[in-house]
Amino acid sequence: MKKIVYIFLIFSLFIICSGFTNAFANNEEYYYTSTVEHLFTHCLIAYPEIAFKKTNPMRDNYNIDCITKDEFIKILNSLYQNNYALVDINETFKNKNGKIEKQKIKVPVGKKPLILSFDDVNYDHKKMGLGMVDKIIIDNNGNLATSTLINGKEEISYSNEFIPILEDFVNKHPSFSIRGAKGTLNLTGYDGILGYRTQSKNLINRQEEINKVKPIIKKLKENGWNFACHSYGHYHMNKISYEQFCEEIKLWQNEVEPLIGKTKVYVYPYGEWEVYANGEKSKKHIALENAGFELFCGVGMKTYYSYLPTKNTSKVLFMDRKVIDGTTLRKKDSNLYPFFNPENVYDYKFRPSA
Ligand SMILES: [Zn+2]
Repeated sequence: MKKIVYIFLIFSLFIICSGFTNAFANNEEYYYTSTVEHLFTHCLIAYPEIAFKKTNPMRDNYNIDCITKDEFIKILNSLYQNNYALVDINETFKNKNGKIEKQKIKVPVGKKPLILSFDDVNYDHKKMGLGMVDKIIIDNNGNLATSTLINGKEEISYSNEFIPILEDFVNKHPSFSIRGAKGTLNLTGYDGILGYRTQSKNLINRQEEINKVKPIIKKLKENGWNFACHSYGHYHMNKISYEQFCEEIKLWQNEVEPLIGKTKVYVYPYGEWEVYANGEKSKKHIALENAGFELFCGVGMKTYYSYLPTKNTSKVLFMDRKVIDGTTLRKKDSNLYPFFNPENVYDYKFRPSA
């Protein structure tokens, strides 16, 4: 009799265990219910020895607003070790009959979703030769790289800008990317995009530049990158008139949208936003909604991804982004610690000490 009980117990244990194994095997993903974090920075300081030279007019700006390539690599390693994994910002919201709603997203067990975005990415011609790369290119093997003129010679690199660095990092650590997502490029248009002078004011070789940038955009999209609008002219939203603001949107639609396609994400320049005026949606905000934007991103070190309410029922989906730059690293901003330790990341080798 005892033997039968034992056999029964062992058999039951086997059933339970195999059930658990199956449950884990089938349940490798879960719905993430907490707020999705969003970090952003600018183009990287590719040549810190040039950027931080005492005679460089951009030295202070770079030291305040930007991070170096080495800092970026350390940050990626730390994010990965802390179980963050990149997710496409467009997966986090949905338009349900005109109402923009947050979406729960599926992520692999053990991972926390993260959005990484990069502002401007135009490689402004006025700042060329001052420490950043000149442009994003595709090399002879079809890989994303950067091109920079150094002492009159073109230097092609894979390790001095966030695009090729992140490409390489995800190749080495595929679980850092959920469903192939990489980052969001928050573009402006006044000086073209990605280092190509695609703006209408370029009367010399605009079409040539458009032809050159198109395959790069295609490659970026294939590799999991997506795009957001960071305005056309990077103006202070509150300092321009409604008419100028509408003109701005038109320029974006005429010059950038035909290259990258429509995007639903709007990233306010300087993080300065205006959604309401006198308790109602402002005219400028309505113009943005009419242009197809659905998710609006500001800047804030506290996590915020929610709805901005109005007196009416119409709500606006708004997301704050934590800034990674020279200032937040130097200040050792406490909001960065869940992601990385700023002290370990800070580039003491190249940054000016005073
Ligand atoms: Zn910007």
